[in-house]
Amino acid sequence: MRKKNFLASILFSSLVLAFFTFPFLFAQQKNSKETLGQWAIHDPERPLPPIVIPGPLLPPVPPPSDAIVLFDGKNLFNWVDSKGQPARWKVEGDYMEVVPGTGNIQTKMGFGSCQLHIEWATPYPPKGSGQDRGNSGVFLMGLYEVQVLDSYENKTYADGMAGAIYGQYPPLVNACRKPGEWQTYDIIFHAPKFDAEGKLLEPARMTVFHNGILIHDNAELTGPTAHKARPPYKAHADKLPLMLQDHSHPVRFRNIWIRELE
Ligand code: MG
Repeated sequence: MRKKNFLASILFSSLVLAFFTFPFLFAQQKNSKETLGQWAIHDPERPLPPIVIPGPLLPPVPPPSDAIVLFDGKNLFNWVDSKGQPARWKVEGDYMEVVPGTGNIQTKMGFGSCQLHIEWATPYPPKGSGQDRGNSGVFLMGLYEVQVLDSYENKTYADGMAGAIYGQYPPLVNACRKPGEWQTYDIIFHAPKFDAEGKLLEPARMTVFHNGILIHDNAELTGPTAHKARPPYKAHADKLPLMLQDHSHPVRFRNIWIRELE
């Protein structure tokens, strides 16, 4: 009888413990390698983050005095294509626009750890669905992508939606504006560090705001971002060009500036 009571109380306390820790585990579903482990890449079962409506659209904020202006709406002098030839995206008004088929573009300068401000707008009227709708990307060091996508009433796998660190971490919330509306990313990026033998000392980290809303809180990247893969780190230079993706959709960018850290 005593043993039975003892077993019952063990069972009861485990249930109580599970009851309280289970939701807590989910609430703690932050961007760490530990929590990533449970999700397969592009896992369709991975929960989509809640929708948050950002505050009203404001005119672009001019860059601070110590920023390196990468695009001010006038020309693509700071940008080249992957072969080092002049970038062939369209410049119109105060923005640049992907010309499908002309390829990714990248900065002439290389950057490591940085604060990056970039504004983007997906095509209006929207066309296509899932990944085939307003797709582009902001690749820090040409390797670590923050996804650009029209995620306004457009479902796709969580780690591939707007603001996702592609294939690794969905944004904490979906802060996407409507297609055609200007949106901002403010990214704090810490480049990975390698020793002289090429061994990883510190992984890359990202904090990202989408339309002013926190979507990554010091997320630890598992390596370069990729489609259907999570490749490991490979030692690379301290500074590499920032890259914008031609994913065959006429996505627009404007007001791009960067502040080097460290
Ligand atoms: Mg992309």
